[in-house]
Amino acid sequence: MKRTERTYAVNEIFYSLQGEGYYTGAPAVFLRFSGCNRACAFCDTDFSAATPMDADAIARACAAFPSRHLVCTGGEPLLQLDSALLRRLKADGFYVQIETNGSLPVPPEVDWVTCSPKEAPWQVDRIDELKIVYQGQNVETVAALLPSPRLFLQPCSGRNVAETVEYILAHPRWRLSLQTHKLIDIR
Ligand code: SF4
Repeated sequence: MKRTERTYAVNEIFYSLQGEGYYTGAPAVFLRFSGCNRACAFCDTDFSAATPMDADAIARACAAFPSRHLVCTGGEPLLQLDSALLRRLKADGFYVQIETNGSLPVPPEVDWVTCSPKEAPWQVDRIDELKIVYQGQNVETVAALLPSPRLFLQPCSGRNVAETVEYILAHPRWRLSLQTHKLIDIR
């Protein structure tokens, strides 16, 4: 009997520059999964549309672009991204970065974990960069609960830049992350 290949609900695959955080400016393929397990009031991403694709189809679509830096995002990518798909993508030479809300554990094949923590509880078990959307909350408590070697604060939808800069100047282990793709009007 023929084995049925698992499909993933893909929202979109596109090529652009990473706009935020540590890899700002890096050409990257973006693989956006459909669906999320949080409902943040400030969410600016429409991740509802879904096209079912198997691992081969996803890898082929991603490999059509020149960069081998892949950003898996959402929604929440870890609701779907599993070791089988990661191994298929890495067979094509991809360096895999994920952008996660911190709610789920990370498969070992992921190369770089960007955690932008939203509502607890959190199960993320390793973080390469913590990128917090700053809204005046106690970010030191979050950073203590979610240890990371790199700490970024990002204004909330660009509205509170002055407040974010002021906090970083007073707490210099943090770095500023801007949504640069919005500043230069690219995807
Ligand atoms: S976790 Fe991220 S994608 Fe999900 S609702 Fe919140 S901001 Fe949107």
